Amino acid sequence: MRRIKALLVNPVIHDFAAYDFWLKPLGLLYVGAFLSHIGFEVHLIDLLNRHEPDIEKFVKVPKDKYYGTGKFPAEEIEKPDVLSNIPRRFKRYGAPPEYLEYKIKEIGKVDVVFVTSVMTYWYHGVWETIKFIKTLTDAPVILGGIYTNILPNHAVRSPADFVFSSNHLELLPKFLKDKLSIETNDPPIEWFEDLDPAYFLYKKVGYLVFTTSIGCPFKCTYCITPIMWEKHRRRSEEKIIDAIEKYLDMFHVEDIAFFDDAFLMSKGRAKKLLSLLIERKLNKRVRFHLPNGIHARFVDEEVACLLYEANFKTIKLGYETSGELQERTGGKVFDSDLEKAVEFLKEAGFTHKEVAAYVLINMPEQRLEDIINALYFVNSLKIKINLNEYTPIPGTPDWHELTKKGTFQKDIDPLLLNNTILPFWWKYGMSKSEVEYAKKLTRELNNKLNNNYSL
Ligand code: SF4
Repeated sequence: MRRIKALLVNPVIHDFAAYDFWLKPLGLLYVGAFLSHIGFEVHLIDLLNRHEPDIEKFVKVPKDKYYGTGKFPAEEIEKPDVLSNIPRRFKRYGAPPEYLEYKIKEIGKVDVVFVTSVMTYWYHGVWETIKFIKTLTDAPVILGGIYTNILPNHAVRSPADFVFSSNHLELLPKFLKDKLSIETNDPPIEWFEDLDPAYFLYKKVGYLVFTTSIGCPFKCTYCITPIMWEKHRRRSEEKIIDAIEKYLDMFHVEDIAFFDDAFLMSKGRAKKLLSLLIERKLNKRVRFHLPNGIHARFVDEEVACLLYEANFKTIKLGYETSGELQERTGGKVFDSDLEKAVEFLKEAGFTHKEVAAYVLINMPEQRLEDIINALYFVNSLKIKINLNEYTPIPGTPDWHELTKKGTFQKDIDPLLLNNTILPFWWKYGMSKSEVEYAKKLTRELNNKLNNNYSL
């Protein structure tokens, strides 16, 4: 029987800024693993893989900056009408259309195309990528990913033929049968436990990204994770380590990032995983990174020592804000938690070069004073500050509250929810000058730390 040929595409980003902080389309790679498992012939075009050698045939790719991260190739493009008043340059980040065309021709005729998506306010790049794909192939295009999960009713207006807005991969065979009459075998697998992300579809990568768990039991009012994943699921530690070893043998990269939302949620489990990384000597082969904020409350002496021994080079602690908003937005962390975590990390051997805390700016009801206090507090612990601009994510408790209050309409164009442009138009949030002030203060405090201190 002829195998069904599927093409997976990770689209470009259209935004005012973007940087490759270990961005890999993990969801799409799980789709690839699942399709391979049920017998499909699978191909991948990742327009954001800066390390793919063929992209250099069409555009100059900036060199890595550190730990495999770096700038995307970028080209200024026309702003969509809704953003026409924003005084910033809008760009396409990723490989140019000529590369996509070249790859689609190289792969040849396919039966079905899967396109993924992430941020809702990146839908423009996703739609444009799909439009272009449809000029090159007659195969039906299925759109999936986080954007379709959060805004399924918006995603159905995309140029894709079908939208798969679920993160339950086990529903895919039925979806393919109902929509495309593609019959597949329906293997009894638990995809997150049994499958490794399909990195084998790449020719070359500059780093690897894994998630050892999905979901989070906390319920922060600004976060979509607990809504997207009903329960917190963890993969068994041995399988994670086996997957890492397998792909390290294949790609020989120097950096691995874990993108869990709740990496430390079960301390016992995290300790087992970290111990296994050390036991299997993976700490001698690669540097590890935790770019998503980890829970400060779960960092104890043993966790800190294991992280150090396991060769973690990037540790971000989720702090977000000072003051009573800590409690009101979900109580995931308090000042004392951060203080203790930093103390343990410092005793284990980490310095401000590896450890930073996230601070959110422009949260609803957050005062400038809360942010300034948060910045000085993090700085007083002698770790770096990572200032993140808040965005209301559709479907979160914050979103329901803000739309109820009429601070914007439920059917707002998601492009306007881009955090970098909120201060340009959102009267309810902080002004541009307040945001600029906080950014400047962050730079000053981080510079002072770099110049004067080590932990
Ligand atoms: S702890 Fe982190 S992942 Fe969990 S709900 Fe809060 S912000 Fe989201």
